[in-house]
Amino acid sequence: MSNTTIPSAASASASGAADATAAPESAASGSEITGVGVSPGRVIGPVARMAPPVEAPDPAEKAAPGRSIDDEYARITDAAATVQAELTARAATVSGDARDVLEATALMASDPTLAKAAKKLLDDGRSAERAVWEAGTSIAEQFAALGGYMGERAQDVYDVRARLVAALRGVSAPGLPNPGHPYVLVAVDLAPADTATLDPAQVIALVTSDGGPQSHTAILARALGIPAVVAASQATTLADGSEVYVDGTRGRVILDPSDAERADAELAARQSEALVPFDGTGRLSDGHEVALLANIGGVKDAAAAVDANAQGVGLFRTEFLFLGRDTEPSVEEQVSDYRAVFAAFPGKKVVLRTLDAGADKPLAFLTNDDEPNPALGIRGYRTSLEKRQVLVNQLRAIQTAREAENADVWVMAPMIATADEAADFVGLCREAGLPTNGVMIEVPSAALTAAHIFATADFVSLGTNDLTQYTMAADRQLGSLSALNDPWQPAVLQLVQHVGQAGRAAVGTATGAGSASDSAPSGKPVGVCGEAAADPALAVVLVGLGVTTLSMTSRAIQAVSTVLRSVTLDEAQTIAAAVVGAPTAAEARRIAREHLPILETLGL
Ligand code: PEP
Ligand code: MG
Repeated sequence: MSNTTIPSAASASASGAADATAAPESAASGSEITGVGVSPGRVIGPVARMAPPVEAPDPAEKAAPGRSIDDEYARITDAAATVQAELTARAATVSGDARDVLEATALMASDPTLAKAAKKLLDDGRSAERAVWEAGTSIAEQFAALGGYMGERAQDVYDVRARLVAALRGVSAPGLPNPGHPYVLVAVDLAPADTATLDPAQVIALVTSDGGPQSHTAILARALGIPAVVAASQATTLADGSEVYVDGTRGRVILDPSDAERADAELAARQSEALVPFDGTGRLSDGHEVALLANIGGVKDAAAAVDANAQGVGLFRTEFLFLGRDTEPSVEEQVSDYRAVFAAFPGKKVVLRTLDAGADKPLAFLTNDDEPNPALGIRGYRTSLEKRQVLVNQLRAIQTAREAENADVWVMAPMIATADEAADFVGLCREAGLPTNGVMIEVPSAALTAAHIFATADFVSLGTNDLTQYTMAADRQLGSLSALNDPWQPAVLQLVQHVGQAGRAAVGTATGAGSASDSAPSGKPVGVCGEAAADPALAVVLVGLGVTTLSMTSRAIQAVSTVLRSVTLDEAQTIAAAVVGAPTAAEARRIAREHLPILETLGL
């Protein structure tokens, strides 16, 4: 291939990951941009870039000479009508949450309160843009002061304010583009608010200049099944409308694809159709069972997990239910949220994780926002050192919900570092009446002392996203450190192996360990619920290292199941032994792929 290669994010400075909308020096036709492939698939489509955030108008900005107050007010009401029409039209093209969010924003744009408040500010000659900005700010602050549900509306007002100012300036609305056809989204990174309106029917691939492989943008892309490349610092050079080939497995983006790339994208479409639907039992070719479970953040994901035939839930991230909340949810509210999920899995395992607040997932009622080093601070289980009652209340809510439904509920704590912490957590769970209690292994110290943790824990689940970041001392959000932040790093795999051995040696099986398929034949269950479980090649290695269950985004289950069924346990153990002894992550990957030709056949 005669493509020129633009250096990867790992070799570019972090500051290279700048505003995706800054006037780019366009990439040349046929040139290749590299990043980190975080969600598999190969597609071709036109680029649409994320519009930049709207800058505040200068406080001294005045109306253009000759424009009266009435003229400026007319501009504001015209802008409101434009924004409302745009959002309504867009809402009609999407479904689910995206539609709800867009319809609510359209409604707010048509509400005259903001326009009228802005009109009052036009008296001293302010521009319409500045008046809208100030009026929007003051309304949003009033909402924020109310807290709770009303407080959450403040963000919607800020969004409408930005859209109105963009319309007044005649520039693209901020946030996701709307070119009117499916596109490859190019952005610096995605904010949670953008992801709520991201429609996988429109966004056929995602390329970001920032973001690491374990970032929540990457996790979202995998959950939606959108091919994605992150940490592609040169993505900023891609111009709107240009056609690109995106390979979300290898982290490649090629401008003006050749016939070979077109043929490859067509092959990928055929390969994905060749995956065998998951029949509801994860097993290797010799019949050895490995339960395949889903990672969920709420009831909507639970429905997707049921559709994917998941054997249950291996990670219910309960903090996702309460992001953006100022106050602790009541026990009653929690009971109702948990019941809604448990009800989707009668007789099946649901592993619920207690609130993992902190670092990239702050919860105002539980975490401090002034820690100098939040990933190493009071997060996860550690929040209970200061606010124990929040954990006690949550456990009470889980137990009440468990008693009201038929799911096989297991509970685990995030960010456990010592056997003492594990014993403390398990003790609290037992006091609450919960029968099957374990911890996540996300900190190297917990992996190394797993044998002691098993003295009280009924099971463990490896959170390989955090385990990798803490083993490699590399922030999982940073695209520029993605080579370190890689679960194929031999150091991480050695820790997994150590935990697998401790699990096998642990005495007894977990109480209430549900169906035979999700308990270890002997010893105690060792799950993986980090993103590593969703990588079909790594899934084989993890099983070979002693992992007994795998939990992942529902979309990945089919591919993981297909590849697991191509090996026996003996073969998985042989591959794992070769991989864990590799000197580098790249070599570890290469060895696994060499042993798994099915990956090439399926285009994985
Ligand atoms: C992990 O760290 O691997 C994990 C599953 O937890 P989270 O991604 O929510 O931090
Ligand atoms: Mg984690």
